[in-house]
Amino acid sequence: MALIVQKYGGTSVGMVERIRNVARRVAATREQGNDVVVVVSAMSGETNRLLNLANQVSGHVDDREIDVLLASGEQVSCALLALALKDLGLPARSFLGHQVRIGTDSVHGRARIKSIDSTRVLESLKRDEVVVVAGFQGVDEADNITTLGRGGSDTSAVAMAAALSASVCEIYTDVDGIYTADPFVCSRARKLDRITYDEMLEMASLGARVLQIRSVETAKKFGVRVHLRSSFNDVEGTWLVEEDEQMDSVLVSAVTCDNDEAKITIRGVPDRAGLAAQIFGPIAEANIVVDMIIQNAGADGTTDVTFTVPKKDHRKAMELIEKTAPLIQAKGVASDTHIAKVSVVGVGVRTNAGVAAKMFQALADQSINIEMISTSEIKVSVVVDEKDSHRAVDSLHASLIESR
Ligand code: ADP
Ligand code: ASP
Ligand code: MG
Repeated sequence: MALIVQKYGGTSVGMVERIRNVARRVAATREQGNDVVVVVSAMSGETNRLLNLANQVSGHVDDREIDVLLASGEQVSCALLALALKDLGLPARSFLGHQVRIGTDSVHGRARIKSIDSTRVLESLKRDEVVVVAGFQGVDEADNITTLGRGGSDTSAVAMAAALSASVCEIYTDVDGIYTADPFVCSRARKLDRITYDEMLEMASLGARVLQIRSVETAKKFGVRVHLRSSFNDVEGTWLVEEDEQMDSVLVSAVTCDNDEAKITIRGVPDRAGLAAQIFGPIAEANIVVDMIIQNAGADGTTDVTFTVPKKDHRKAMELIEKTAPLIQAKGVASDTHIAKVSVVGVGVRTNAGVAAKMFQALADQSINIEMISTSEIKVSVVVDEKDSHRAVDSLHASLIESR
């Protein structure tokens, strides 16, 4: 008998009829002779609704209370699914994060899983029950409720699969698999049969929210077999795999788009040693993650420094930079929240020198201006004006994926 972990995302449990559909799918998996542990997200829209309520009640950010609030979304869906399973005559039991003891650190809002005590889950499976676990939530050493960051139920599921040595972790969502681009953005995107952990890691960090990045890290670390597929049909989805030799013959596997960053520019700073440390020190202290950085030295001995931060941290970063600016004699500070980072990802980028050039040409052909560029081993990213982002994805998909 195999043990399968199944995760159902927000849209898959977004309505009562869909919860019943999930219960039927779980029942079918059981009928095939498997043990099933189900991890659920909150019903779609619920996490945003709760965040909105918090914003209305208070202008003060209190991460601990927000986590107590947000965790309630998954509490509802896991109880409803357990009820729907029992309604089908299947023994089932729901568990919240603290009951399974999904132990995390204390970083509210983006806690990391440190341990899972699977005793209760195993006891429940032994009683022949379907185990339903609330995703996205855990508990820290002091028993505070924590959450794992947006999309965190993916990570709950993969971590459960690792802890239980499950034969597979099936992630059920509203698309048939992982595509060469977001199918809702690029209509010609194709479903991939498989993708390497490393490519998916890059994609997740570059805006493809189809899997949370930490779930991919965890899957790679513990060798969890992940199969991402639709909860609305039985089509085979996409498997995460280790890289093999054939793969780098494929130039680019996917195009991604991230609209969640903002750009900040500090202009006309007298150039000298220690400048970068002075600019980025306070930002790092505030726990703001800087992504791209470019520095252009002008002929007059001054320099412009441009960098990107997550949109949610933009206001805070601007406050800090405006304090730093007079200290470094900057001529001015500007920012732009209407940007998008468009990237091409593929293990083939490593061995094919022409990818970046082809990418720039495709954007030039569309008269799309590139504001920033960054590269890493298996990706090339550019920042463009947000209004051009869908056209950029389309043209890169056409020139680097469809043409091969
Ligand atoms: P869930 O609620 O099931 O966790 P998400 O909304 O978090 O679902 O993730 C699924 C969404 O990811 C899809 O609806 C799609 O819009 C988006 N997405 C972005 N990039 C891709 C891609 N390359 N392949 C498939 N889906 C993608
Ligand atoms: N409900 C959480 C969110 O909306 C976690 C998840 O869906 O994975 O981000
Ligand atoms: Mg998700």
